[in-house]
Amino acid sequence: MSFFTSSDANPLHSRQLGLPAVIASLLVSVSVIMYGAIADLTTYQRWMNILTGSFGFIYALFLPALIIAFGRWRSILWWLLVLVNGLVIAWLTILEKNSLPGISLFTYLILLLGSAVLAGRWYTYAFVACSLLTYHFLPLIVQKAPVQVTTLQHVEVVLASIVLTETVCLLLDHIQRHFQRLAVVNQMTRSLAFSIEISQVVSLMSAAIQSVLDADTYYIGFVHDDLIDFELFYDDGEFFPSTSIPVDGSLAGWVLKHRKPLLLTDTIIQLPQLGLPSLMIGKPHISLSWMGIPLQSKDMVYGIVAVASYRREAFDAADLELLENFAQQASISLDNATHHAEVERRSMEDSLTGALNHGNFLKSLAAEAEKALTGGYPLSLIMLDVDFFKQYNDTYGHQVGDQVLVSLTGLIRGYIKSTDLLGRWGGEEFTIALPNSTGRQALQVAERIRVAITRLELYDREHRRIPPPTISQGIAVFPLEADQVDLLIDLADRRLYVAKERGRDQIEPVPEANPRLAEKKA
Ligand code: GH3
Ligand code: MG
Ligand code: MG
Repeated sequence: MSFFTSSDANPLHSRQLGLPAVIASLLVSVSVIMYGAIADLTTYQRWMNILTGSFGFIYALFLPALIIAFGRWRSILWWLLVLVNGLVIAWLTILEKNSLPGISLFTYLILLLGSAVLAGRWYTYAFVACSLLTYHFLPLIVQKAPVQVTTLQHVEVVLASIVLTETVCLLLDHIQRHFQRLAVVNQMTRSLAFSIEISQVVSLMSAAIQSVLDADTYYIGFVHDDLIDFELFYDDGEFFPSTSIPVDGSLAGWVLKHRKPLLLTDTIIQLPQLGLPSLMIGKPHISLSWMGIPLQSKDMVYGIVAVASYRREAFDAADLELLENFAQQASISLDNATHHAEVERRSMEDSLTGALNHGNFLKSLAAEAEKALTGGYPLSLIMLDVDFFKQYNDTYGHQVGDQVLVSLTGLIRGYIKSTDLLGRWGGEEFTIALPNSTGRQALQVAERIRVAITRLELYDREHRRIPPPTISQGIAVFPLEADQVDLLIDLADRRLYVAKERGRDQIEPVPEANPRLAEKKA
């Protein structure tokens, strides 16, 4: 992705910039015509003035149309104009003897400025050179003497031309860079408004930095505990795999701790002043310029965006401001992205216990079953139900009952892996999916949970210790006993019912893992 701004869209490339030069040329042309008409001249001189003025008038009038018409071949036009304008100036130095005094120098200045503004530096210098040449050669061809220009005046004109051209071009470059940056900020703001993924925000920032900052290195890192994890790391033309650095003792860490931007124009001198060692990540070059901005919202520091250069003084206050602008926009989007992710996570969870809700448990179970089939491993399912919970609620109150469900969820989490799934099937009934676990392993987990609940510390509304409820569980294994998810659930549910019927506070395992059956067989 890139934020390329087409030069045609740039207001600086507008033809309006040439308007003052065109108007001045028209006025000069009219003045020459008037001079020819009223001054005390010979007929030949009179007509020379009127014809030259008329040519100038028509030339100035049609020049803008010509520039439009040439479109893509504009560079050919500029070279053509270099030649024509050079000839115009040389002709005016000849005419000037019988025309308005200073007319050639004045026209030269107008054409020089017009050329610098519209055609740029090199065409303008070519025009200066062409004017000098034609000043010397045209008089030889037409056999007429021009106004005398001394060597010193030649030097003065050339020097003044360089100063004018450079000033105009530098100003234009400067303003153009400013416009380009504004365009990139606008584009980025627009794109970020639609970004709800953190990865999108990161790649938009990367594109924006590459478009407008002259950086050898840049990175975007997010804080996790004491580490900064680089989501993106670019150095000297290459993207590097994600790494982490400690917050402490790093420049990025300084920015994160102080929650403010930092611009270093010479790290060799400034790093020791901050009490920090020089840090090399990526390629073994020391960055001599560095700037970093925290990515933060009002109450949260997400991370940092930093750019660096191997050159001293590569960045200035304007660059820092630009990067701050990017960081601000990105922070807003990161805020949105984080909230979005949070809302999405919440929508999958049961609000009381934080376990997966019924729908999402089913969805995740189906995905796990799919994986188990392709992976060729078993997937065990435990159905768990609190015994006599209605009675428990009636005795200790609904709020205490709620607390039991929350504690039970926390307890179960302590006995399963992070890759296992815990869902609230409904009410006081939970489901646990154990990928890559046999019936025997599932029985061990179920048994540990059954025993652990007896040790739960629970209190009633008067803060008196109360006994925990017991639980009953049924287990089934996919695809061994049931090759479809709904059949698996049915089977585990039926086994849970068996455990209830047999007296509760117990587990009905898969038959091959059933110690009672094993005893009978023996
Ligand atoms: P059994 O041993 O047969 O499962 O008996 P039980 O009383 O647990 O079963 P039953 O299905 O008759 O009652 C379930 C009770 O669980 C009813 C309801 O009061 C309670 N319950 C369901 N959801 C919640 C909840 O979110 N909070 C609380 N406190 N109680 C709940
Ligand atoms: Mg129950
Ligand atoms: Mg129940």
